[in-house]
Amino acid sequence: METKILHTPYAKPDAYNALSMPVYHSAAYEFESAEEMEMAFTGKSTNHTYSRITNPTVQYFEDRVKNITGALSVTALNSGMAAIANAIITLSKSGSNIVTSRHLFGNTYSLFTSTLAAFGIETRFCDMTAPANVESQINEDTCAVFLEIITNPQMEVADLQAISQICKVKNVPLLADTTIVPFCAFNAKAHGVDIELISSTKYISGGATSLGGIIIDYGTYNWMNSPKLLPLAKEVGDLAFTTKLRKEIHRNMGAYMTPHVAYMQTLGLETLTLRYEKASRTCFELAKKVEQLPQVQCVNYPTLGENKFAQVSRKQFGDYPGAMFTLDLESRETCFRFLNNLKLVKRATNLFDNKSLAIHPASTIFGTFTPEARKLMRVMDTTIRVSVGLEALDDIFEDIKDSL
Ligand SMILES: *Cc1c(COP(=O)(O)O)cnc(C)c1O
Repeated sequence: METKILHTPYAKPDAYNALSMPVYHSAAYEFESAEEMEMAFTGKSTNHTYSRITNPTVQYFEDRVKNITGALSVTALNSGMAAIANAIITLSKSGSNIVTSRHLFGNTYSLFTSTLAAFGIETRFCDMTAPANVESQINEDTCAVFLEIITNPQMEVADLQAISQICKVKNVPLLADTTIVPFCAFNAKAHGVDIELISSTKYISGGATSLGGIIIDYGTYNWMNSPKLLPLAKEVGDLAFTTKLRKEIHRNMGAYMTPHVAYMQTLGLETLTLRYEKASRTCFELAKKVEQLPQVQCVNYPTLGENKFAQVSRKQFGDYPGAMFTLDLESRETCFRFLNNLKLVKRATNLFDNKSLAIHPASTIFGTFTPEARKLMRVMDTTIRVSVGLEALDDIFEDIKDSL
């Protein structure tokens, strides 16, 4: 994978034989003739027409991700939320339902329960760690089972073998937000995920350089089973989802990745494996040390100690599942005091910057939800989330210890 990431060729000849894909900052593209123009606009040639639809630099980023993951298609958007919204809108229509967990990224929860609900799309909550519960929520109007591979901040891990088996039996596509463990450490296709969604703002951007989102279609789902995509599936088979997304939804929503972002995120991909290996290992070692501190009530990291998700996490993600852990302190006041004392670790949202970050999710990301809603989501007043960066382990640990 490391080699493939670096050596995905791009269309030559470039005018100057540049070694990196140039950044094509152009809104539109010129044509030699009206006939060529007609071909491009009607999809009979693959020439670029307008950068809301395709752009050579963004396409190169998509090609790299495609080469690395072996996907059928990759679409790059300008945020993780744009990727999730575009994917769901491609699949669903009024009357459809999404089966998912209550333990979701805050904006995903709001997208499902407010934005999409207003268009007649229902969200059915279940416990993703109880496969029978998932199965019982699926009916003929279910357009997707949607899950996050490690929920945040609850750190729950669903058994993907069990969930994907249910999806296959029920003929429902499995959509997974895999932001927490990147594709260099987690093979979504091998775990039965049909559509993978990533906030590339996180690991892939190369250190919080830019916002981005990726939709990966593995071509594994038979769209003849999708009431909405059936007519297209009769025409284009496995390409039904990609065709609907690329020829209609993403054009109309207008949230395509921009060329400069694609350039930065292509560079980010080049060091992804190195950065992920270092940060996730430091995270595990740090979580182990922080757990020993007397002021800490508990530390949550999927492969740490007696964690009930340790076995399934190791199977799916290896020994170091992500560079994020949570710690629980005595009270909300103790959490605030701890955050205010930090000198090295930054008080900030976001995950997987090169710098370590800490946040109190209940008062920030989930701060506008009611206390009852937070309780249902298991977002607690006593929890601090830490995203581990590339600093030396001892320096991060000293800062946490001193701040406590
Ligand atoms: C950050 C994040 C998102 C949203 O991504 P943006 O790039 O901020 O739009 C979605 N899911 C998860 C798990 C995230 O961490």
